[in-house]
Amino acid sequence: MEKAKLLKLLYQYRSFGFEYIKDFKPFISKQNQHLSCNLNEIEINVKNCHLCPLAKSRTNTVFGEGNLDANLMFIGEGPGANEDKTGKPFVGRAGMLLTKIIENVLHLKRSDVYIANIVKCRPPNNRVPTIEEVTACKPYLMEQIALIKPKIIVALGSTSYHHLTDDYDMSISKIRGEVLEYGDAKLIPTYHPSFLLRNPSAKKDVFADMLKVKKLL
Ligand code: SF4
Repeated sequence: MEKAKLLKLLYQYRSFGFEYIKDFKPFISKQNQHLSCNLNEIEINVKNCHLCPLAKSRTNTVFGEGNLDANLMFIGEGPGANEDKTGKPFVGRAGMLLTKIIENVLHLKRSDVYIANIVKCRPPNNRVPTIEEVTACKPYLMEQIALIKPKIIVALGSTSYHHLTDDYDMSISKIRGEVLEYGDAKLIPTYHPSFLLRNPSAKKDVFADMLKVKKLL
C-alpha cells in the first residue's frame, strides 16, 4: 500500500516535469509513524531535494526549527536572503518582528514554538513561489505538521493561507483572525511580519489575532 502511494507520488512529480530526487526516503502517513519516519529523516530528504527549480538557486535549504512538541506552529511563505544564507527560518527583520510578537504578545520563547515555511528553498528575488514549486514542496510541510501535531497553526500571510487551505480566492485581510478547523488543529491566518514592516498600522490587527491564539493555547 505504501509502495503504491509512493509510486503515485513519484508519477505526480514526474508529470510536473521533475527529474530526480537524491536519496529519497518515502513519506509515511500519520497512522504509520512507527515505520521509520521522523523529522530528521524528512530534513535529510529536504537537504537533498531537487524536486523543483528552486534547488538550483538556493544556498541552503530552510527546513524549519523549534520545539518538536510545540502546541503552536507558525508557517510563512518561503526563505528570504538571510534565511537562505543561514539555513534558518525567519532570521531577518521580519523574523525579529515575529520573535517580538512571540515574546511580547504571546509571552512565549521562540524556542517554545515551531516555525516553518510553505517552500524550503528561497525563490529568486523573494518572488512568490509558483504553484508547481509549492506542489512539490508541500508534502514536506504536511509531514512536519503530522509529526509535530500542533494545537494551533498560524498562517503568516496570504501565500501561506492559500496553500495550506487551497482557498485561493479569499483575501488575507478578510480571513485574518478567523479560527478555522484544520485537521486536528485550529488554523488562524494573520498578516506576514514582512507586511507589517511595510504597513505598521496593521500591527494592531495581528495583536488582536495573537490574543485569540493565546486564549486557545
Ligand atoms: S523548494 Fe522544496 S521541493 Fe523545491 S527543491 Fe527545495 S525542498 Fe525541494
